[in-house]
Amino acid sequence: MVENKDIKDVLFYERKNVWKEINEEQVTSINQFSEGYKKFLDQCKTERECVKYIHNLCLTKENSFISLKSAYKNRQQLHPGDKLYYIEHNKAIILITIGKEGLSQGVKIIGSHIDAPRLDLKPLPIFEDTELGFLKTHYYGGIRKYQWVSVPLALHGIIYKADGTEVEINIGESETDPIFVIPDLLPHLSAEQNKLPLKDAIPGESLNLLTGSVPNVDTEVTDKVKATILQLLNNKYGITEKDFINAEIEAVPAMKARDVGIDKSFVGGYGQDDRVCAYTSLMAFFDASNIINDKTCYCYFSDKEEIGSYGNTGAQCDTLTYVTELIAELLAPSDKNDKQSINVKNVFRESVMLSADVAAAFDPNHKTVFEANNAAYINRGIALSKYNGAGGKGGTSDANAEFVNAVTKLFDQSDDIVWQIAELGKIDAGGGGTISKFGAHLGINVLDAGVPVLSMHSPYEITSKADIYMTYKAFKAFYENL
Ligand code: MN
Ligand code: MN
Repeated sequence: MVENKDIKDVLFYERKNVWKEINEEQVTSINQFSEGYKKFLDQCKTERECVKYIHNLCLTKENSFISLKSAYKNRQQLHPGDKLYYIEHNKAIILITIGKEGLSQGVKIIGSHIDAPRLDLKPLPIFEDTELGFLKTHYYGGIRKYQWVSVPLALHGIIYKADGTEVEINIGESETDPIFVIPDLLPHLSAEQNKLPLKDAIPGESLNLLTGSVPNVDTEVTDKVKATILQLLNNKYGITEKDFINAEIEAVPAMKARDVGIDKSFVGGYGQDDRVCAYTSLMAFFDASNIINDKTCYCYFSDKEEIGSYGNTGAQCDTLTYVTELIAELLAPSDKNDKQSINVKNVFRESVMLSADVAAAFDPNHKTVFEANNAAYINRGIALSKYNGAGGKGGTSDANAEFVNAVTKLFDQSDDIVWQIAELGKIDAGGGGTISKFGAHLGINVLDAGVPVLSMHSPYEITSKADIYMTYKAFKAFYENL
C-alpha cells in the first residue's frame, strides 16, 4: 500500500516544467541551440531551401556523406559507419548511417516534413485591375485565410526560362528588397464582411499580392501596369509571363525568426510546423552519427505533408522502400554465389520510427477546444501523441502500447529528457494527421513526437526554446539508445 504522503509522487502523473528541472548549464545549452534554429528558419522558408541546406551540411568535411544514387551506380559495397544521402526530386531528402547489423534488425527512422502552409503563385498569376497590378495565389495547406492579409510576404522559388535555364527567385528577404502584401478591407467598410464566419470572410480568390501600380504609358497594350511589372521581371530575370507556367514560387512571410517574450523563452517564426522537428532531428542525427550504431539510422525529411503527403516527394511515395532496397542490394556480399537477398518487408517489420511533427500547444486564450488532461503544454518537453486523426480516431495509425512503452521507458532512463503525452484537442473540435500512418503502412512501429506550437499554421508560429531543446535531446536518445 502506497503511503498517503507518497500518493502524489508515486501514483499521480504530472507533467514537468523544463525550466524547473534544469541547471544553469542547461539553460545556456537551450539558448545556444535556439540561436542555430532561428538561423535555420531564416534560411529555409521552402522545402527546396531545406533540402539544399541539409544537402550542404552533408557535404561538409566533418560530415562527408556520399550520394546513395552514385554509390548504387558504382555498385559500391556498403559498410557499417558509411554515411549516405538520397534526394527525392529536390524536395525531400533522407540521410542514412549504416549500422553494425546492416538491415537485419530493422532501421531506426525519424521522419519530419519540410513543407509548410503558404500561398503558391498560380501558373498565370499576373493581372491588372483598376490600374493596380497583382499576383494571384493558390493557398497550400490548411491556412486560416484571414491571417495572411496585411502581412509582409516574400517570394521564394524557381522558374524555368524558355531556353531551359533555371532562375532562382528570392524577393523580400533583404532589407532593400520590396515585399508583397495582400490588402485587407478597412474596418469602416467591413460591416457586411464582419457578419461572415471567419472561414468565409476572405475568399481564396481574393488572396492577391499587390505587386505594382506604375503604368507604362509608351505601350499600346491595355494593361499598362502589368506591362511595367513584366518588363521589370524581364530585366531582372529574363523571364516572360509564359515562364510562370514552369515555376514553383511561394509567397511566405517576409519576417525573420525572433525571440518572443520579455524572458525570451519563445521562438517566433514562420514554418515551425514542421521545420522545428526537421532541425531538431537533423542536429540529433548528426550528433549521433559520430558513433557507429548497431542499427542503420535514417533521418527523413518529407514534402507535401500539409496537403496529405501526396505526390512523388510526399511520404505516401515509396521513398523509404526504394532507399531501403538500394541499401539492401549494396549491403549484400559482393560474392554473387553467396548473395543472401534481404527482404525489405521484413526489414520494415523490425523497424521503429518517430514521426517527428508538432503538437498543438494548450492555449489559455482558447481553452474550450482543448481537453486539459491530454493536451500538450508549453515548456513540458517533447510531446508524444499515440494517435491523431479526427472523430473516432479516423485516419490515424494509433501506435501500439508496446511501442509507446519502449519510447517512454527510453526517455525516462535519461534523467534530463522532459516529455509529455498529448492529444491534438477535443475529440470533435477538428482533427489532423501526420506522416505516421504512412510509416505504419509499411509495418513499421511508429509514434508521433514533436514540439508543441502556439498559433500553428499561422504566418508567425510560436514554440518554447525549452521544448525545442528537449525534442533534440529525445531524438538523439532515440538514435543512440533505443
Ligand atoms: Mn506538421
Ligand atoms: Mn501542419
